[in-house]
Amino acid sequence: MAARRIFFFGGGEADGDGEMKDVLGGKGAGLAEMTRLGLPVPPGFTISTDVCRDYYAAGKVMPAGLIDEVRAALRRLEKLAGARLGDTERPLLLSVRSGARASMPGMMDTVLDLGLHDGTVEGLARRAGGDRRFAFDSYRRFCSTFASVVLGVKGEPDPFDALLEAKKAERSARSDVELTAGDLADLVRDFKRVARERAGRPIPDEPLEQLLAAIEAVFRSWENPRAVAYRELHGIPGTWGTAVNVQAMVFGNAGQDSGTGVAFTRDPATGDPGMIGEFLVDAQGEDVVSGARTPSPIAELALRFPALYRQLLDVRATLEARFRDMQDIEFTVERGKLWVLQCRSGKRTGASAVRIAVDLAEEGLITRQEALLRVAPGAIEQVLRPVFDAKDKALALAQGRLLARGLPAGPGAASGVLALTPAEAEARAARGEAVILARRETSPEDIRGMHAARGLLTAFGGMTSHAALVARQLGKVAVVGCGALSFDDRARTMTVGARTLREGDWISIDGTAGEVIEGSVGTSASEVVRALVEKTLDPAGSPICQRLTWLLEWADDVRRLGVRANADQADQAAVAVAFGAEGIGLCRTEHMFFGPGKIGPMREMILARTVEERRAALAKLLPLQRADFAGLLRAMEGLPVTVRTLDPPLHEFLPPDEAAVAETAAATGHDPAWIRKRRAELHEANPMLGHRGCRLGITYPEVTETQARALFEAACDVLAEGLQVHVQVMVPLVGERRELDDQSNVVRRAAEAVFAERGRRVDFKVGTMIEVPRAALTAGEIAHAAQFFSFGTNDLTQMTLGLSRDDIAPVLGEYVARGIYAADPFTTLDRDGVGALMRMAVAAGRAARHDLEIGVCGEHGGDPESIAFCDELGLDYVSCSPYRVPVARLAAAQATLRRPVGA
Ligand code: ADP
Ligand code: MG
Ligand code: MG
Repeated sequence: MAARRIFFFGGGEADGDGEMKDVLGGKGAGLAEMTRLGLPVPPGFTISTDVCRDYYAAGKVMPAGLIDEVRAALRRLEKLAGARLGDTERPLLLSVRSGARASMPGMMDTVLDLGLHDGTVEGLARRAGGDRRFAFDSYRRFCSTFASVVLGVKGEPDPFDALLEAKKAERSARSDVELTAGDLADLVRDFKRVARERAGRPIPDEPLEQLLAAIEAVFRSWENPRAVAYRELHGIPGTWGTAVNVQAMVFGNAGQDSGTGVAFTRDPATGDPGMIGEFLVDAQGEDVVSGARTPSPIAELALRFPALYRQLLDVRATLEARFRDMQDIEFTVERGKLWVLQCRSGKRTGASAVRIAVDLAEEGLITRQEALLRVAPGAIEQVLRPVFDAKDKALALAQGRLLARGLPAGPGAASGVLALTPAEAEARAARGEAVILARRETSPEDIRGMHAARGLLTAFGGMTSHAALVARQLGKVAVVGCGALSFDDRARTMTVGARTLREGDWISIDGTAGEVIEGSVGTSASEVVRALVEKTLDPAGSPICQRLTWLLEWADDVRRLGVRANADQADQAAVAVAFGAEGIGLCRTEHMFFGPGKIGPMREMILARTVEERRAALAKLLPLQRADFAGLLRAMEGLPVTVRTLDPPLHEFLPPDEAAVAETAAATGHDPAWIRKRRAELHEANPMLGHRGCRLGITYPEVTETQARALFEAACDVLAEGLQVHVQVMVPLVGERRELDDQSNVVRRAAEAVFAERGRRVDFKVGTMIEVPRAALTAGEIAHAAQFFSFGTNDLTQMTLGLSRDDIAPVLGEYVARGIYAADPFTTLDRDGVGALMRMAVAAGRAARHDLEIGVCGEHGGDPESIAFCDELGLDYVSCSPYRVPVARLAAAQATLRRPVGA
């Protein structure tokens, strides 16, 4: 037997149900389910999506036998409705509605009031107690939609709208409701004439012919350019096809006790549990959203039609109980009676997603596990971002202040004065100004200026450029790779097209949209950040903060992976702890050297001509670094703190230009010529593969020794204060076990020396990063020397794929666009390549040392898909920037929940 093609709904029964979206489309499935639930749904039938596919497969020909099936369904509908299509006494009118598997709001077509002609319109009027105005209002609506949707009569401006406007002007009517039955009858005549002239054929009078043509038009609307574009944007397959819903009309345009509306069962912007929406009296179809008249908020319905409002609240409760989610509904009131015409899960903001999921769990509609799976990790990120005031931004755009677009690297919004150098950013920030730092690109040297700025803007670099990475670690707003910017260093100006901005000019960046806007746009820190980090808001007074806190606690109950943070200053560590980090997975000690007063001794160290000179410089650095470590250890209160020994090539610390050379010469007493010579000596053609990582510590053991000493002295100090400490020393860029042995010995000797001096010991571990492919390949051997592994997936990706992450942005964009890479491998772990090395290293490492702790500390540690992979590999923890910690907690829980049982 052939599969059923038509599914009836009405009279409390339905052939289909809410689970059958594939066959019935979202709208049809919703109508069937609502009918079964006993909700007031006008009866009708759904022609399945299979028929649409057959229609296209046959070269746009209606499948054989369909007409008979439509007739049979129509007969059933007529019986139920007590009216007949085309009957001049009791005419049945129909709506013919599209509806695909995935919601494509407004993209396809709908025909309303079908079945009208000069005979039936009089019957409609008689049945409405002689209301000819209502009947002709329906008729003109039918004529215009049928002509445009089925006959394809369209234009800019729409010819039917133009005629309507002309009629309104002629009658001095402010809106269509002021037109009389006679006016509307005139319009019907005009509409028909225009339709015939423009289409070359008339609107058919025969209702069955109208119906079959409308059904076919809905099938065809699947391929209209709007729908095709929407599908491309949302990844909806073109093969799905649309269903067609044929349904008895109900009339919101039947007078002052009628109307049409849309409602969300909860607030889609905030998640607030109150129902919100809009309602328009004496109106039909899209009037409520088309802006023809201004609708009233649904709260007014409660005042004007309290009984109806109560019914709507019942509908809300029934739908939420059944679909267990916030619903977006369409309804119509015909002479005081409520009809529900559509329901679907409502689209929502990140904040709303969090709040609704948690509330539904608290209300017992879904389980906590379901709540965890309902919130996309990106929703949490959105909740943490500062925000532009919506009105202010719309105004700015309307004023033509959009300067350029770039990549949205650090979501959120920031306004401030323009600074073109890190020093300028710092100076202005010190004066209390909000600063946007704009650079061609940023380097590690810029860190203080970046720290001081509210937002970062660069002309070059991709989503994983230095600027983007640091922005995310610091929770800064960032737009990168904004190619339209050019800089004049002499004049200290930045030019975009015809506009030239100076330092101190106001500028705004939207790191969620990737937009650069001239002038200021009002922003505020997100509620959650004010409550948890700034502590300027009582969390109990913030519904979203409360819900997020609960959700993340539920995530903690479920997840197997630990979550640590990448942080190198006490304040960053405090943020990480506030967000629930369970340790520091990566402290980049080099960032400490860019702190105030530290770059000087660091340069002395690099410029030293002898070991003695180097030791003298290091002696100056030691107390500074000790204080930083102590701050970090105090903030973490006994949680693991993983400190990486010096990693970047030394040239990054040297004065970048002549002015800085002169400054350094004055500060260190070194001859400028020597400084220049040293800089030339340290220059590397391929700095990522040069004198860096453990190679520095091996050639300059006193550097590692000083860092270890500073760390252990700090640990002893903090221990003496009565606090717990948990120290892990991590050696970077190891590829050969003997490298780790060497550095491990230096660290252990320094530790023993400090313990002897202080008369106390602290427990500590020495481990290594696995970031050189050779380390992954020889992990079994390395594990004999390492107490822990931490995958440095940034370098590991760079070296495994042979891609320089600082140079590759433009190529990567094209690779991803052309599908050569499925995703940016610096954002989402390359499972097949880098992942294979990781899998191998985990197995070999654990075989050699069963209690080997293994984590990941690259950018991937904050990426949900990569986190799922780390969970699959059985890693112990992921480490990410402090602001990603909440995202990682949720993503880790989702990874556990989605893992097949037994895996
Ligand atoms: P979309 O998919 O674009 O939302 P719909 O099929 O929902 O299109 O139809 C658009 C509008 O037409 C609905 O919002 C509703 O107001 C009106 N409508 C649809 N079917 C009926 C009906 N049976 N009775 C009255 N109005 C209807
Ligand atoms: Mg709709
Ligand atoms: Mg590295």
